[in-house]
Amino acid sequence: MKKKFNKKYIKNLVYLLILPIFGAIYLALVSNNIVTEQTWKNIFSSNEISESKYENEENGSVIGDMAVHFLDVGDADCSYIKCGEVNILIDAADKEPKGKVVNYLKNQGVEKLDLVVATHPHRDHIGQMSEVLDNFEVSQFIEPEIPEEANAVTVTYERMLETLANKNISANLVSAGFSADIGDLKIEVLGPISQDSENLNNNSVVLRITYKNVRFLFMGDAEKAEEQEILSKNYDIKSDILKVGHHGSTTSTTQKFLHEVSPKYAVVSVSKDKHRARKPYVMDRLKKFCGDDIYVTGECGNVIASTDGEKINFTKAA
Ligand SMILES: [Zn+2]
Repeated sequence: MKKKFNKKYIKNLVYLLILPIFGAIYLALVSNNIVTEQTWKNIFSSNEISESKYENEENGSVIGDMAVHFLDVGDADCSYIKCGEVNILIDAADKEPKGKVVNYLKNQGVEKLDLVVATHPHRDHIGQMSEVLDNFEVSQFIEPEIPEEANAVTVTYERMLETLANKNISANLVSAGFSADIGDLKIEVLGPISQDSENLNNNSVVLRITYKNVRFLFMGDAEKAEEQEILSKNYDIKSDILKVGHHGSTTSTTQKFLHEVSPKYAVVSVSKDKHRARKPYVMDRLKKFCGDDIYVTGECGNVIASTDGEKINFTKAA
């Protein structure tokens, strides 16, 4: 045991000494323009993705009856869907920015939510769920069934469960195969197929929403293992708009999965934070399918994808 401890101690000490040296070298290279700093803008330009779409107001009118609002909530997720009188919410951001989700929905004139989805119980997806449930009438609430061994219970999750109980909202524990028609929208749950007690992300509710001829695919934080399970079922997962899995991390959006989805547009919900941008992302893969039509919320703010069931328009939102 002692030997093991010593080895670990020495390893940590080496890291402690080496990391600042590499850090200093990196900063020196960046400041002398020898290496490019990994910001979103640089990642876009190195993948030849134009950002002009963000400024193009002409491109920006909301069309048709269906609009999906992807909220800029930092390293978290929150999508609000409006179709006629139908309102749907997928995830409710992290705890911060406080009040953002409820205020946004109120500004949109929402009074009741026909469907609320908690893709999985991580805080960056259910951070403000309790407040949402408290402020709006909720007709249907879905979440995945989480294996007990996964230790998913956190303060935030407990608060969400308490509010569900207080408001008498029964949570429908869904998995692949669940479907519902709400107004003109067809809702299909494509995952999870099995439970993962090691990695909560792979219990994410993966949701496809279809309006006439336009299909949106919401991945939650599903990673490679869940993507592979969905592929193994040979579902038709082709979709026009992909809400990219796990904030654009390389844990997700595997080549084969992306090929089957073949999206025309991609939305990545992640902050502008440079530390996030420094990690490798899947921009080059997405570029092959979506060209310049990749929207990163941290760069473009709240963004709306609207459709009449044929055409699709992206708009920057207030
Ligand atoms: Zn997440």
